[in-house]
Amino acid sequence: METREIFSGVNSIKFNQRFNSDEDCYSYIAAIKWEYGYNCKKCNNPKYIPGKKPFSRRCSKCKYDESPTAGTMFDKIKFPLLLAFHIIFKIGTKKKGMSTLELSHEFELRQKTCWEFKWKIQQAMQSSLLYPLQGEVHVDELWIGGPEQSKRGRSKGSKKLVVLGLEKLPDGVGRAYAQVINRASAKEFKGFFDNHISKNAKIVTDEWTGYGPLKKEYPGLEQRKSDEGNGFIDLHIHIMNLKDWLRGIHHHCSKERLQGYLEEYHFRYNRRTSMDTIFESLLKRMVVNDPVRLSTGISEG
Ligand SMILES: [Zn+2]
Repeated sequence: METREIFSGVNSIKFNQRFNSDEDCYSYIAAIKWEYGYNCKKCNNPKYIPGKKPFSRRCSKCKYDESPTAGTMFDKIKFPLLLAFHIIFKIGTKKKGMSTLELSHEFELRQKTCWEFKWKIQQAMQSSLLYPLQGEVHVDELWIGGPEQSKRGRSKGSKKLVVLGLEKLPDGVGRAYAQVINRASAKEFKGFFDNHISKNAKIVTDEWTGYGPLKKEYPGLEQRKSDEGNGFIDLHIHIMNLKDWLRGIHHHCSKERLQGYLEEYHFRYNRRTSMDTIFESLLKRMVVNDPVRLSTGISEG
């Protein structure tokens, strides 16, 4: 195993000093990619000589020359790697991230280019699904992209329905996740619960009938009258903040893209007390490039 110097922190001056050329970035990616050793992708040979491109490795047997970015989310990007690193740093560490319009101005790239790269970052920000919400979890739905609706129903036109869960701690709030769904039904809620909430959690929802059938699998589920003004305040503040952010940063988009924004928001939100490692963790995800699909609760049709 090789040692490498991990970049941590949110200080942009230090970031600029550490990464000021494409070479710096290639070297960083190579160190992550081959952190646990090298084996040729074509013939599995563990020996290599330096390749032709910066920090690439050339198999000593079959001569396959592998660049650090091959097979990563940085493969074939249309702008300098240095810009890509700076975009990731900004999106990861700025409290509200950056819209594609802001990125396009700051980095002098076409907005479409920023949009495409940001989509990659959002895919890397997807929940690993390994750490479901625990303890007391409050759940509710919200509408995105239209006037508030009091009636429960299914998504129509540009309006999209989202289900959201938030951990309620004795002294505040913990982590949160959200998922786009087609309608406020038990089947769609179950998809979200199975992805993001522990079976042992004490789940609190309002009295909507769609949640009732989930009590079988989630015995801790309790339904409360929503007009009692009890513990739902934190959930509603969270929903308000999420909606404000979405209004400022995106307009009409597909359900899949909306899911990307929900993942981005909660990736940062769930790491708000450990911001120092955000860049490293994002970069690792982009290099390892686990082909996880962006999951929404949307079933076909
Ligand atoms: Zn080889």
